Amino acid sequence: MNNIISLDTENKCICRYDNFKICNRNIKDDEYCRYHKNIKNKYMHKIYYDVFRNKNEINMGDLYELYKHINDINYPFIKDIYIELLQNIPYKVIRNIVDKSNYRIFAKNNYTSKMEKYLLLYNINKNTYDFEHNNKYIDSLIKIQRKIKDNKILKYEPNNIYMNDEELFTGENICELPKERLFVLKNERGEKYVFDAIELEFFIRTTINNKQIPYNPYNRELLGDNIIKSLKNFINYNNLKIKDNEYKWETDMHAFTDLAIEIERRGFYNNPEWFKSLTNVDFLKIIKYFKLFSNNIPENSLYFNNITEDTLIFDFCKDAIKMFRECNEELYILCCNFIKSLAMCSNNFYENMPNWLIGGPNNINIATMANNISNIRINTNIDTLLGIINRNTLNDLENNFLFYYYVEHI
Ligand SMILES: [Zn+2]
Repeated sequence: MNNIISLDTENKCICRYDNFKICNRNIKDDEYCRYHKNIKNKYMHKIYYDVFRNKNEINMGDLYELYKHINDINYPFIKDIYIELLQNIPYKVIRNIVDKSNYRIFAKNNYTSKMEKYLLLYNINKNTYDFEHNNKYIDSLIKIQRKIKDNKILKYEPNNIYMNDEELFTGENICELPKERLFVLKNERGEKYVFDAIELEFFIRTTINNKQIPYNPYNRELLGDNIIKSLKNFINYNNLKIKDNEYKWETDMHAFTDLAIEIERRGFYNNPEWFKSLTNVDFLKIIKYFKLFSNNIPENSLYFNNITEDTLIFDFCKDAIKMFRECNEELYILCCNFIKSLAMCSNNFYENMPNWLIGGPNNINIATMANNISNIRINTNIDTLLGIINRNTLNDLENNFLFYYYVEHI
């Protein structure tokens, strides 16, 4: 590198000073003149020289060349060195360069810090570089664009007719959701449904995790691989971020909706609205009945153990969803017991219980069961209580809100 420089500079100093102009003083045996012999950051001046040569006017393209250069020489800390290189160019010069572009962050009345501005320049150049050097990404983008052109991915058009006005998962009116999130699902009869792509993807992913074939939640029609692929393309194309497996509920209604979908998935007709009218005490009663009904099924102890007063509804919904997902075969009885418990506390659930769950020789009669529960209430002692909530000793129960409830209300 040194050879190239000395050849090129023809014995001129390569240091940049005074508004970033190159020194150009004559030199003898060194790369720097006598004024700049002891200058700091000589390596930076070398990098500048390798990229900018004798140029005195630096533009946006040159800043990109600078970024490219430190990548090409495989410099290990690209971000640090690039920002350092920018910081060593007088800020006035950087301002002039960027003034000619349309980045509002550099406007005179924009008070963001210099560092934020350097970071912006770093990101712009990094993205450009990555895009230029990642053919795979470009290829897939072109493929998706082609699919959209071929109408394989339907675009949401406000004037078209859709089967739903409200988005199922978010409960929002479709026209209020951002367009890039609206995924259109069209079936063989030409009926079109609109979904929030992120929610639909999460629903499909959960269904697959539950070893079920994904289906349209409106009519239970099975969804083919091509629809799932289109959805994935749609998400990539619009740069949407898919949901984590963790629940991110903001309101009780979000939690109720997810739970209602899960209950529905297991064949029990229900509506998230029905949970809305339940009180905190109702939720605790449901847990209590569930534990009582499931007393002879040890696996009941896996659910509803950590219920905290402040997060009662979320805790309840999380565990109920977990149980419905996990207990879909041999332990389906736990799901049935849960529905019965809901029916004990909610008229909506009671009136909509499937007939096979109410009567029959192998099933518990709700009316009789209610009587038994009142008896248990009267006769409960501390050991029965501990048994019901699957705890061995009182020490396990310190500060346990659920236990407090059992003692206070049973
Ligand atoms: Zn000099």
